[in-house]
Amino acid sequence: MSEINASGSADTDFDLVIVGAGFAGLYMLHRARGLGLTARVFEAGGGVGGTWYWNRYPGARCDVESMQYSYQFSDELAQEWQWSERYSPQPEILTYANHVADRFDLRGDIQFDTSVEAAHFDDEAGRWRIETSDGGTWSAQFVVMATGCLSSANMPDFEGLDSYRGETYHTGHWPHEKVDFAGKRVGVIGTGSSAIQSIPIMAEQAAHLTVFQRTPNYMVPAHNAPLDRTYEAEVKADYDALRERARIRPGGIDIEFNLAPALDASEAERRQKYEKKWAHGGFGFMGSYGDLMLDGAANDTAAEFVRGKIRDVVDDPAVADLLSPHNVFGCKRLCVDTNYWQTYNRDNVTLVDVSEDPIERITPSGLCVNGQDYTFDAIVFATGFDAMTGALLKIDIRGAGGRKLSEKWAEGPKTYLGLAIAGFPNMFTVTGPGSPSVLTNMLPSIEQHVNWISDCLDYMRQNGHGQIDSDQQAEDDWVAHVGETASLSLRATCSSWYVGANIPGKPRVFMPYMGGYPVYLEKCQEVVANGYQGFALS
Ligand code: FAD
Ligand code: NAP
Repeated sequence: MSEINASGSADTDFDLVIVGAGFAGLYMLHRARGLGLTARVFEAGGGVGGTWYWNRYPGARCDVESMQYSYQFSDELAQEWQWSERYSPQPEILTYANHVADRFDLRGDIQFDTSVEAAHFDDEAGRWRIETSDGGTWSAQFVVMATGCLSSANMPDFEGLDSYRGETYHTGHWPHEKVDFAGKRVGVIGTGSSAIQSIPIMAEQAAHLTVFQRTPNYMVPAHNAPLDRTYEAEVKADYDALRERARIRPGGIDIEFNLAPALDASEAERRQKYEKKWAHGGFGFMGSYGDLMLDGAANDTAAEFVRGKIRDVVDDPAVADLLSPHNVFGCKRLCVDTNYWQTYNRDNVTLVDVSEDPIERITPSGLCVNGQDYTFDAIVFATGFDAMTGALLKIDIRGAGGRKLSEKWAEGPKTYLGLAIAGFPNMFTVTGPGSPSVLTNMLPSIEQHVNWISDCLDYMRQNGHGQIDSDQQAEDDWVAHVGETASLSLRATCSSWYVGANIPGKPRVFMPYMGGYPVYLEKCQEVVANGYQGFALS
């Protein structure tokens, strides 16, 4: 087995192949360069930025505050970059990703418009053989899958889809050119985060907007505003303090978190607390009480508060009722909105409930629900993603002995720490299933994974190791632990994409790690301190 080879690679042979040029792939390339490794990134899209390259729908923006949703690895970068709003809009985040690529001179090692279609581990050579959509074959000692948790768009298999004669859009694959809905009849399918961000804006543009809702969602208001420059200066004067406060929170986001149980407070105290959080805006609402995701009765108090807000805002009580969720508050991913419910007071917006009578089929002129035809000039599919496993399973990945990842994961994803997969040596996943990933502020989680992987590669080189694989037992124990922590939370109880419920036939497994970001960090550090405990190095 060769040690990591930092020089002398042929053009098609690399120390490291990285799949994806979102924030994970970009930073992984930067770290690989720092280690002196030869690396090549393959990116299906025509540019960097991943999520922020693809999701260009109107209103797309981050719902983690800008000062926290940015890289931490370079103090110069953090100091020089200036965000314009409390929550950054998609174009600005994409500009930031491009700035990072240029500032660190990363583009030269990224091959755009190229999908990785297969990655097979060659047992004899101890290397990965990679096939790309341009017909290329490549070899690498290591592969890092930086393919994203929410990068494989879900287009439901509606009957008659191909017959539709109007325009179709998916929020996760939005065109680069401006889409003009002026004067058009537009239908939107879905009411998740992407839909709730785009609906208020599309409603302002379209002649008429019809929203097809299968499950109503809980929202908290964003209260977006220009970034407070005094706050920015305070953060920049001591960025570390902000990051340290964030690191000890379950979601890795600096929010005020009250550990007290909701039912210990009186009704009046609770209302006051919820109103205060509501007025502040954003995910901080989840920090109102410590047991909102653990105790059904506590959760009900938050759920009822939010339903009250819907009734306050929406003029038509029947529409308010339809918009009111009755599942567990925060069970599906909480949405952060700007004027979403208010949009239903507009004359040109109609809400159609498809919870009991699903969309029957797409027709040449629109779609049909319960025998009723709706005619549209454009249909927007805000139907989400095959989350966490979708992008990985689209690639024909075969590990040691030719074992297929799709077979190994037939009953749900199994990983060690969401970083490695037993039987798939020298392959790492960034924010893979089994890591806190989508339950956290993703950028710090991505950096933590990339740092862990880079440190591991460095350790291997320093110690003359050419191969790493996680132990089956360590993986089994971790998978069991991920399942146990999920079972303690109300979050695992509903049909969300966290459990794969949005994709027909996908195994129902709670995919991200619910134990919290600080616990996870500690576990990752402990593994390293114990000489890569749970891994076999050779
Ligand atoms: P991605 O950005 O998804 O990049 C993965 C890249 O890999 C993509 O460019 C894709 O084209 C490429 N790729 C995948 N498969 C292949 C292949 N086989 N071959 C070649 N290339 C491939 N997170 C937050 O923390 N806060 C937020 O507010 C937030 N908002 C979001 C809003 C939207 C609309 C979405 C969809 C996600 C949001 N997220 C948010 C999650 C977001 O995905 C992460 O924050 C982050 O951008 C992920 O970066 P990544 O590099 O891991 O993955
Ligand atoms: P999503 O949350 O999965 O929402 C998809 C929507 O489409 C749901 O309302 C779903 O209904 C509906 N749907 C799917 N198939 C349908 C069908 N056959 N018929 C009718 N309705 C159907 O996807 P998303 O909105 O793209 O968001 C995915 C994740 O990306 C978010 O949870 C979040 O993590 C991230 N994101 C973040 C932001 C942000 O604010 N920063 C913005 C966008 C996305 P059901 O609920 O009934 O399945």
